[in-house]
Amino acid sequence: MEFSIIPDQDALSKCTWCQNHISDYTDAFGIGATLKPKIDLADYQAHCIEISLGPEDKSVCMLVTPEGSEAKADGHDGMFLVCSEPCGKRLKAAVKTDIASGEFFDSIQDILS
Ligand SMILES: [Zn+2]
Repeated sequence: MEFSIIPDQDALSKCTWCQNHISDYTDAFGIGATLKPKIDLADYQAHCIEISLGPEDKSVCMLVTPEGSEAKADGHDGMFLVCSEPCGKRLKAAVKTDIASGEFFDSIQDILS
């Protein structure tokens, strides 16, 4: 599988869903996703990649969690950063359509900090 890598600076300073700028004052939070076992993103570890989601093929950035990281140990193969609860809900809904089609994701859950 091939994906485009998005520079961390771009990916990690914006909400995955609405592209709003995320600052230190924004109540941003992370959502973790587990991928299908057949999906191998080893080449993209610790990078942000662009994937398309949902019926409208919306492109979003996902951080591929590296081996040995806390998120990975918790079972999250990928992470999304969102600026607010509504964005998180929409993102999860889009990922759930993918889970239903059985292509890429196995599950998605909030990352509890
Ligand atoms: Zn947002």
